[in-house]
Amino acid sequence: MEIQEKVKFEEELDHSFLDEIKEKSFSEEISRCIQCGTCSSSCPMVTYMDYPPRKIIAMVKHGFKDEVLKSFTPWLCASCYSCQVRCPSDIKITDIMYTLKREAIEAKVYPAKFPIPALAQEMHKLIAKNGRNSELWVVVNMYLRLKNPFGPLKMTSTGLNLMKTGRLSLKKEKIKNRKQLHKLLKAVSEGAK
Ligand code: SF4
Ligand code: SF4
Repeated sequence: MEIQEKVKFEEELDHSFLDEIKEKSFSEEISRCIQCGTCSSSCPMVTYMDYPPRKIIAMVKHGFKDEVLKSFTPWLCASCYSCQVRCPSDIKITDIMYTLKREAIEAKVYPAKFPIPALAQEMHKLIAKNGRNSELWVVVNMYLRLKNPFGPLKMTSTGLNLMKTGRLSLKKEKIKNRKQLHKLLKAVSEGAK
């Protein structure tokens, strides 16, 4: 993705964004960022990101909501926690990346053709329904969502090898008491409103 260099005026910034992300990620510490760059230099995915983690934190602090939520960075975060354990200000950077993904999905502004948001949503759907993930069905549903039904064909030989070794199954795994899980998820989502 090409980074657009443009001037953003004060009135275009969303100054409530910082408080929103602080609250949702339980990260009061964001304001303490000293822009040291330890997070970016610790990040194994930084070369693929449009904005490095240091810049994402700065943009959250200063209200660049639109740019942050449309960024590829949270979707490329591998949740390795290297940044979070090394941050001298104890900022929960990985947790913030998760919050940004949820916010982007809620606002429907995530990169549309990018497979990771589709994968995350399909995985969530399956786990919320069955209490278990089923890798094969997550991948199939992800490609259907991306309107690319023949996408999985290029992974046929890997898939068959995984099936032979029992690592991939056509069966959708389910937990026993799914009603209890559904009640729990309902209570959580009502509590979050
Ligand atoms: S490591 Fe922490 S303090 Fe340093 S730039 Fe990253 S978030 Fe800010
Ligand atoms: S948790 Fe995410 S942002 Fe932090 S270092 Fe790992 S990949 Fe990078």
